Amino acid sequence: MKPVKEKPTDQVAWEQVAEYLRKTLDQDELTHCMRCGFCLPACPTYRETGLEQASPRGRIALMKAVADGIIEPDTAFADQMNLCLGCRACETACPAGVQYGRVLEQARAGIALREPSSRIVRGLRKLFFEHLFPHQHRLRMLGWGLALYRRSGLRWLVRRSGLMRLFPEHLREMEAVMPSASFKGVRERLGGILRPEGAPRGRVGLFRGCIMDVLFTETNCNTARLLVKAGYEVVIPDKQRCCGALHAHAGEEEAAKRLARDNIVAFRDAKVDWIVSNAGGCGAMLVEYVHHFQGDVLMEEDARWFSERVRDISQLVADGIDDLPLKRLEHRVTYQDSCHLRNGMRVTEPRDILRRMPGMTYVELFESDRCCGSAGIYNLTHPEMSKQILDEKMIHVKNTQADILVTSNPGCLLQMKWGIRRAGLEHRMRAVHLADLLMEAVE
Ligand code: SF4
Ligand code: SF4
Repeated sequence: MKPVKEKPTDQVAWEQVAEYLRKTLDQDELTHCMRCGFCLPACPTYRETGLEQASPRGRIALMKAVADGIIEPDTAFADQMNLCLGCRACETACPAGVQYGRVLEQARAGIALREPSSRIVRGLRKLFFEHLFPHQHRLRMLGWGLALYRRSGLRWLVRRSGLMRLFPEHLREMEAVMPSASFKGVRERLGGILRPEGAPRGRVGLFRGCIMDVLFTETNCNTARLLVKAGYEVVIPDKQRCCGALHAHAGEEEAAKRLARDNIVAFRDAKVDWIVSNAGGCGAMLVEYVHHFQGDVLMEEDARWFSERVRDISQLVADGIDDLPLKRLEHRVTYQDSCHLRNGMRVTEPRDILRRMPGMTYVELFESDRCCGSAGIYNLTHPEMSKQILDEKMIHVKNTQADILVTSNPGCLLQMKWGIRRAGLEHRMRAVHLADLLMEAVE
């Protein structure tokens, strides 16, 4: 794929987007689609709208029509591409093996040449993609700010003063379930290297993520501790950065590649056997670095080295779970898949782990493989669709009668916390990350 051009300051015309898409959309991939429709029942946006254009098959048909020069892209085309959650459930359902996620990213890269028309979306994109995620120290500052907001009593004051009423309902609700941000990330708390007792089973590089390390630092610490308990030496490279998933999914291909390049170098220099992630969204992106550098003579080999070593925390823990000193936890537990963990990384171990934990009664959640509506910043950019999907999900969650809902991605975890609150289930259920639950059980 050709590099994305610099964004001009004035608005790019749709004809230029069309030209770019005709050059970059993978025609082979689009032609693989047999129009069979097997993907339709798996697609949340199709299920909610019943519209062909909001289905994977419909979106592929739209992309193909643009690539063939039959239609010009326009706002309606962009809306359909942006309405997609990027959950990739369609890929798992597709008998032809269409790599939908990849063509979606290509389509979004073309659309991203134009500035979004909505001021809110434009502002959010700029804030997250340019000013926040690529800069570890800014994320740390954000962590400081958020922690201060909570601990100084400012949050209480904002709530009491009614200021929160100025924000849309979904933002108010989400603020209420936001975990406490941390002053320090996992590396600042635990140091750069952690060693197990005895000879290590291997050397693991911990990918700490951006949001994960600010809002879920304790989960990152538990992940590192768990790996040490399981007998691994853990390294937390200082020079690592955001994985770039949100950038890639939003069409910011060049920014995503810059971040990927830094991460590859950081972990190669650390000479690790595995690169471990505890967030489905990050893990799926890390696995795909190799595709982002296809044909790049300088980076392709290193990117392959990197991608082949990426594992989810559950995969390494499942290997050594019988050696972990786990005490009995008497709970009824259910599991919500992270789309990218399931459809991107094809990870199945979390369920095995939950079934094998002493004292746990595992109950399968109906349609646990269906997206929860979080999808990166989708719940901020498309709150109505996100809420619709979430509320449906919570009906099934309630039916499990579980008291613990496990998931393995920060976005899904926040969405589940939000869902539990929306469904009024806080008194009898909590949402936790798999690593945190395992550490609760470690004696
Ligand atoms: S299941 Fe695959 S081949 Fe069939 S319509 Fe969907 S994307 Fe196309
Ligand atoms: S990625 Fe998810 S929302 Fe998008 S078309 Fe595929 S199934 Fe539908």
